[in-house]
Parts: sequence; structure tokens; C-alpha cells
Amino acid sequence: MTEPHPTIRPQPGILDIALYVGGDSKLAGTANKVTKLSSNENPYGASPLAVEAYKAASADLAVYPSTDHGDLRAAIGQVHGVDPARVICGAGSDEIIAFLCQVYAGVGDEVLYTEHGFAMYRISALAAGATPVEVREDNRHTDVDALLAACNDKTKLVFIANPNNPTGTMISGDEVARLAEGLPKQAILVLDGAYVEYVEDADFDAGLAVIEARDNVVMTRTFSKLYGLGGLRIGWGYGPAHIIDALNRVRGPFNLSGAALATAQAAVLDEVYTANCKALNTQWRGWLTEKLIALGLAVDESHGNFILVRFATPELAEGCDAALRERGLIVRKVGGYGFPEGLRITIGDEIACRQVAQGVKEFLEGQDE
Ligand SMILES: *Cc1c(COP(=O)(O)O)cnc(C)c1O
Repeated sequence: MTEPHPTIRPQPGILDIALYVGGDSKLAGTANKVTKLSSNENPYGASPLAVEAYKAASADLAVYPSTDHGDLRAAIGQVHGVDPARVICGAGSDEIIAFLCQVYAGVGDEVLYTEHGFAMYRISALAAGATPVEVREDNRHTDVDALLAACNDKTKLVFIANPNNPTGTMISGDEVARLAEGLPKQAILVLDGAYVEYVEDADFDAGLAVIEARDNVVMTRTFSKLYGLGGLRIGWGYGPAHIIDALNRVRGPFNLSGAALATAQAAVLDEVYTANCKALNTQWRGWLTEKLIALGLAVDESHGNFILVRFATPELAEGCDAALRERGLIVRKVGGYGFPEGLRITIGDEIACRQVAQGVKEFLEGQDE
């Protein structure tokens, strides 16, 4: 911990921020091939068309990129059925989350999120000088009544991820609409849609109906998960014109590189590729969930590209994590998200899922001896 300077001090809240801890990607002292299942990345990588676009962009590295992201917004509009004029693009959805906090919350304001919610909500709230407020969940599900009860005249933003990370659970469109309807009039509901592309429920609209029907709901989306572009940092937001206009005023004019814009555009337009990745995720998510439940572990039905596995004790979760690491499998410990007894496991390809199932099985068998 660095000692505070006697006279030069950051804004209030900044030193309360704990640095974000990402998923590990390396194992100490192993020569074996490592499979990273700790950051919900696409195990199949980006679309070949996106990779081609990225390579082609190397011809234009000297040129400043588009400031209005018009081509990418048009492609997003076409594929996702949204109005391109009300899309804002950012360096990951993390940047959209930061813009929302910067624009709508300050000292004395409250930013709500759920108990096991994504770390960036708290970080961005503190960075804006606002007060983060964690609201309890109901058996690992977003609890609309608890969120509404936590609202007051200081509430400015309410973040929920739907599906949620690290739980994988989700709430219905009706529940989302009830939350939006019940918020105090100065508050915005933010639907973090990092995992919406993985949802199989045919009625699920990612929140579009409630966004279009109201003036207090926005969504954030990402190219880091299904689109396999976590390394490039591209996300987007969608909502009413008054919010998108305000966010655009704090956005740096060149916040996305030309390579990122071109690659994302090719990725979003390759719907055949993403449909295939989604289908494989669904297949192996179901397979792995069943295998682990059959081993006696607790796993909620997940709607994302990961599952949260709960053990009887934190010690068993720790032990299993270590056993998987010995096999070159890196999963995510989620004690920091309130689940010391849990491991979050990204749905990898078939080989990875089979290795995880086998590794967990052998670890548990070793416990009985
Ligand atoms: C992975 C993830 C994101 C994506 O963040 P990016 O900045 O777009 O990479 C956003 N929200 C949640 C809940 C996530 O798990």
C-alpha cells in the first residue's frame, strides 16, 4: 500500500477503489499447456472474417479513426435491431459503465448493484465520487423488491447484469420492467447485457422492449464474450436519446482504434459464426452442468458462457481449484464475489469441458479415501 501524499490528494472515493482482479492466465511452474477458463472468453476465438479485418487494418495504422463510429453503429443496428443513432461505442462495456457513473453520479449520490454483481459497478461509482450500495440477492437471483426497497432520493443508477455474473441466473422481462417502473424518477436502470447473446429463451429480448417503452433504461453490450474480442476492448451502449447524447459528450473522440472498429464490424456481421459458437456453448454448458450435478455439486441453471459450481465448503472449492490447476485448467475463484465455496468455470470447447468434468470427479473421489 502506497502512503498517501501529505498535500496532494486524489478526489474523494478514489483511494477506496480496490484494484480489479482479473482471471489468472498463467500457472507457476508448469510446462503443460494451460486452458484458461477464468475470464469467460470465447474458446473458439474471433470469427475468421474479424481476424481478416484486423490484419487489413494494419495498412492504416497512421490514420486517426472515425470519431462517430458510424459504420460499426450501422452494423450493430442491422444485426441487433436497434436504432444506430442511439448506440454509443466504448473501449469495452467497462468504458460505457464508467461514462454512466461519470455523467449521472457524483458526491452524495448512490449507485446500486446486486450482492454478487460485477466489480466494475463499484469501481466506477467510486471513481465518480459516488457511494456504491450493494443490495442482497434472493438465492443468487437479482431481487427486484430488495433493489426497489434500497432506492431513495439519492439513487442515480441501478446496475443489474441479466444474465448475471458470476451466478449465471437471470430474471424475466416482466421483472425487469417492474424494476424500471418502480425506480425513483431521477434514477436510471442499467441492464448489463454482457451475456445476452447466450440466452436460449425465445421470448428474451435483451431488454429492448423496456428500453424502447421508457426513458430511464439503458443497456451495455460487449464484444468480449460471444464475439471473442476481449483483447481488443470494444463494447456498446443503447438507450434513450437524452442519455446517449449525454454519454457522448464525455466520450473521447478517438476512444476506439481503427483496428477495433473494423474488427468489431466484421465480427458482428458474421452471424453464422456467432450462431455456431452459441450452439456449442449451449450444448457443452448443459453437458457440464449435468456432469457436475451428478457428482453431487450444486449448479444453478446458467444462461451465460460459464457456470457457478458450489461445493460443500470453501476448503473443497480451494482444493478442487488446486487440483484443476495441476491439470493445466485455470478456473475462477469467486470469494471476492461472495462465493468462497464456489468456482466459476467458463464453458470451454469439448476437450476442456471433458477435462474439467474428469478433474472434478477425480478430485472428489480423492476426498473419500
Ligand atoms: C465480461 C463482462 C463485461 C464485459 O466487459 P468488457 O469491458 O466489455 O470486456 C461486462 N459486464 C459483465 C457482468 C461481464 O461479466
